[in-house]
Amino acid sequence: MSNVETAPVEIECGREEQPEGAVHELLPGREVVLGGVRGMAVSRTLPHRDRRMVGAWCFVDQYGPADHDMRVPPHPHTGLQTVTWLLAGDVLHRDSLGSEALVRPGQLNLMTAGHGIAHSEESPAGRTGPLHGVQLWVALPEHARSAAPHFESHRELPVLSLPGATVTVLMGELGGAISPAKAYTPIVGAEASVFADTTAFLPLRPDFEYAALVLDGAAAVDGVDLTCGTLLYLGHGRDCLEIRTGAPARVLLLGGEPFAEEIVMWWNFVGRSHDDVAAAREQWMAADARFGEVTGYDGEPLPAPVLPATPLKPRGRVR
Ligand code: MN
Repeated sequence: MSNVETAPVEIECGREEQPEGAVHELLPGREVVLGGVRGMAVSRTLPHRDRRMVGAWCFVDQYGPADHDMRVPPHPHTGLQTVTWLLAGDVLHRDSLGSEALVRPGQLNLMTAGHGIAHSEESPAGRTGPLHGVQLWVALPEHARSAAPHFESHRELPVLSLPGATVTVLMGELGGAISPAKAYTPIVGAEASVFADTTAFLPLRPDFEYAALVLDGAAAVDGVDLTCGTLLYLGHGRDCLEIRTGAPARVLLLGGEPFAEEIVMWWNFVGRSHDDVAAAREQWMAADARFGEVTGYDGEPLPAPVLPATPLKPRGRVR
């Protein structure tokens, strides 16, 4: 990580009424076990029954801290980007472009699936200590969803110094700090590390919608007490966000321009129609060149589940 020494910015949230469009919607996570009976339990807050997306963010899994090995065999993706962000531990990524990258806390692994890619994710041999992090997906807009896949590993990310907090910008821009990660829609993903017994103010854009997730500790976000495992959807219309702490806390801020397109999200695919997803599934099961091959992973690729009996329907950002 690097401190791109933007001078600390003073931000004060106005004390007037909630702006139009600003809301508080608590979206509790549901527990999902990845990779079979000995798999790792994650808390999934997006997609949620009541809300499928925040900006282009369409998937949020939070895991740990847990003394667990991650072991996700080769599987395909289309039409999205995967974002790996760790608080503790490390994860080894391999993909069908031949990339092999270990990601550590403070670093970003970003995989753009575009037309199609396959990857595996696992704890490296000789792992010590717990694993703690988030796995996020960003839906690609129509103009980018069929592009060639690529992989980025960012070891250095911009850090914004604010009174009461330091903020690492993973994706997009916050307070003038711009992530080098390639984004295809106006979006932001940032982790605020908020000091003890303080109130920090994050700069927001009124045209973006936002959500906040506590990754470590607890905090009052815009006056709402929040702990790990629940996503707080904030709507749009704000120009700043207040975060108040007792003990130090780490809070993930996700935001973006509301995603205008309807998508079909099923298993590891994002498409625009049932047929898109059905074709991707069939090609994966046939080991088609669309997804290529992951080498170096000790185990079989993941088979796709059976498609539901009724056709998948494109859906918007809100159910
Ligand atoms: Mn994946």
